[in-house]
Amino acid sequence: MNADAQIILTCTFGGTALRLLDAGLDARAYEINHRAAELARQAANGRALIAGSMGPIGRMPLALGAVTYAEAVDQFADQARALAEGGVDLFSIESMSDIAEMMAAIEGARRAVDLPIFATMSFDTNGKTLLGITPTYAAIELTKAGVAAFGANCGRGPEDVAAILQEMRSAAYGAILIAKPNAGIPEIRAGKAVYSTSPARMALFAREWVRSGARIIGGCCGTTPQHIAAIREALGGKSAPTRQQMIR
Ligand SMILES: [Zn+2]
Repeated sequence: MNADAQIILTCTFGGTALRLLDAGLDARAYEINHRAAELARQAANGRALIAGSMGPIGRMPLALGAVTYAEAVDQFADQARALAEGGVDLFSIESMSDIAEMMAAIEGARRAVDLPIFATMSFDTNGKTLLGITPTYAAIELTKAGVAAFGANCGRGPEDVAAILQEMRSAAYGAILIAKPNAGIPEIRAGKAVYSTSPARMALFAREWVRSGARIIGGCCGTTPQHIAAIREALGGKSAPTRQQMIR
């Protein structure tokens, strides 16, 4: 928080019950999401908005037919309800590769509560998502879905983001765009993931994201408070819209 972030995310990326099943924690999904939201609120202490993080169920369950669309909606609705009751201000649905799963998450979040939704996909495979979704297609579908903001998160690093955003902006002029890339591609050193992009380099790219239309800026995997502080300094504190602008 001393990095002066304006939005912080809950640690609930893998918080759907189906995803928690892997860890044997599916029965505690409500408690985990609710508590994570409470803890984030406490930590922010009024200085930042709290975004409830919602990531993929995992293993492409819709594309592979392991769950139905309605089941996926239920999963995300349950998670969103727990996050909302824990006190989040908005939802950040992120790292999606499958547009159908993204739509299920949006529908689930809306079923639970009326809060702003940020929707980002991971364009990590030659400029597309793993399932071949292009930034143009994502922008068109997410505009139709009427989310508060959309863009790119995770992925291969800060270098790819400007081109993705420019494509999105061409397809959806006037949309509030989000840039939240990884701090580079992780290398495994001594069993640990190490990210190579320095805070200064990330901040340099952040200016480029803004020129490409981003109005909500952050970092995904490998991002440290130092990265966020460097970005804030580089952008002069103009990285996030107000709560009023976010709520449609
Ligand atoms: Zn990431």
